[in-house]
Amino acid sequence: MAEPGRHPGTVPAVEEPPSDLVVVGAGAAGLFASLTAADAGARVTLVSARPLAETASYWAQGGLAAALAVDDSPAQHLEDTITAGRGLVRRSAAEVLAEEAPARFADLEALGVRFDADRHGNLALGLEGGHGIRRVVHAGGSATGRRILRQLSADVVEEQRIEVLEGRRVQALAGVDGRVCGVLCDDGRTVAARAVILASGGAAALWSRTTNPPGSYGSGLLLARAAGADLADLEFVQFHPTAVVGIPGREGFLITEAIRGEGATLHDADGERFVDELQPRDAVARAIHRLLVERDQRAVYLDMTAIDPARFPNVVEALREAGHDPATRRIPVSPASHYVMGGIVSDLDGRSTVDGLYAVGECACTGLHGANRLASNSLSECFVFGHRAALAGLDEPVPAGAPAAPAAEIAPPPSRETRHAMWRDAGLERSAEGLRRLLDDPHPLAGLVAASALGREESRGAHARSDFPATDPELDQRHSVIAADAGTSRFVKWT
Ligand SMILES: Cc1cc2nc3c(=O)[nH]c(=O)nc-3n(C[C@H](O)[C@H](O)[C@H](O)COP(=O)(O)OP(=O)(O)OC[C@H]3O[C@@H](n4cnc5c(N)ncnc54)[C@H](O)[C@@H]3O)c2cc1C
Repeated sequence: MAEPGRHPGTVPAVEEPPSDLVVVGAGAAGLFASLTAADAGARVTLVSARPLAETASYWAQGGLAAALAVDDSPAQHLEDTITAGRGLVRRSAAEVLAEEAPARFADLEALGVRFDADRHGNLALGLEGGHGIRRVVHAGGSATGRRILRQLSADVVEEQRIEVLEGRRVQALAGVDGRVCGVLCDDGRTVAARAVILASGGAAALWSRTTNPPGSYGSGLLLARAAGADLADLEFVQFHPTAVVGIPGREGFLITEAIRGEGATLHDADGERFVDELQPRDAVARAIHRLLVERDQRAVYLDMTAIDPARFPNVVEALREAGHDPATRRIPVSPASHYVMGGIVSDLDGRSTVDGLYAVGECACTGLHGANRLASNSLSECFVFGHRAALAGLDEPVPAGAPAAPAAEIAPPPSRETRHAMWRDAGLERSAEGLRRLLDDPHPLAGLVAASALGREESRGAHARSDFPATDPELDQRHSVIAADAGTSRFVKWT
């Protein structure tokens, strides 16, 4: 695998005044990292391929988790995160998240985000699966992502130190002597900087049935790998239990877990309840999947008739627009791929295994989520680690020369066939047979997911193997890492 700046077919640098930081991606992680760096006096170039409304962050509904209630504490948040992660959470990363989420929440308020209050004017806290206490702050009911992103992007536009390259895709990372210090955009422009922060989002749209926007196919993971970075835990893909089925125009539309937190219930086709709706996501999603496979059915039914529609306005509005009234009818739902716990290996300051390259938000893998992300921890992760990486990146040296980048296409979008193969062979339950077939898929990330899932011969959290149904205690705390020059994973213990 070529290192940046040492690739055979390199593109010469185009003259651009260097920035301190290049941030790739304008979701929650990228916007917040940019604002943090600018606040510290740095000049930032923010590159974003897709419009705001097509980021996963904009679509976030439930909210962000932070220990803010008087009877809550970071220690309890940490314990819930560790329990949900099924023996694979990297404790140091989860500690950072639980400790720093309240401060980042305060930053968001200072930046102008208005979070919902209850009728007494106190902060309204939602309950979601796996949380032992009400801990999820939200804005505009279930319009949390939209509200936060609108505010942060308005703040970015106001900030003179941030230059935004909108509608520009980063097609390769650029470097000098094995160190990343710039990006090559699809218009041929190279931007140099002390460090590059990838905040390019997740990869759940590699699967055909997904809650994610189409751009979330893991381009950042492939850019990082091409630059020499390790990837990890790609077998852990969270399937959200309640995505809409069979409502035209709303296929895969997510119905937030917070609605179950408020009392919505799941029923089979005969109207019977069959699962504890407030278990962590992996358990609820698998219970639905097994029931549907056993009965050869397409959907179970979410009963939210007792829920106040004003609490979740955008969910209710979207369903009504599609001709379903959730106040009177149960909604057909089934699992859909939602969140990839794996990603670019990064430390507690977002540093990847390549000098000068950082990763934050959903594209990163700090080990924080282990084998199963606790609901609403990912927005918090964007802010906590986006903040840390922005500050750490400013300590990197000024580039030693003009960075160069490989000219080849590194991160193509997946074809329809790849997305269907991912759903069939790397879905809620996998086996060696399907995974071996997927190894030969032409999309580079599909083969890496298959290799990671094949290597983990156990079932744990979001990774269920029908041929290895038990959890192997020998693999507790063992992350599966794929080095940039390797096609298979090795198990590594992180501290
Ligand atoms: C429907 C839905 C609901 C959710 N609800 C919640 C919730 O309530 N709470 C919670 O904590 N989490 C939730 N999540 C998960 C959470 O929203 C995401 O994990 C998080 O927002 C990811 O943020 P990000 O900044 O890492 O990436 P994104 O928000 O996906 O942003 C990625 C950015 O990178 C850009 N990009 C990608 N590749 C390139 C490239 N090559 N060049 C230039 N730009 C590029 C994209 O255009 C985009 O701007 C939800 C997710 C979905 C899909």
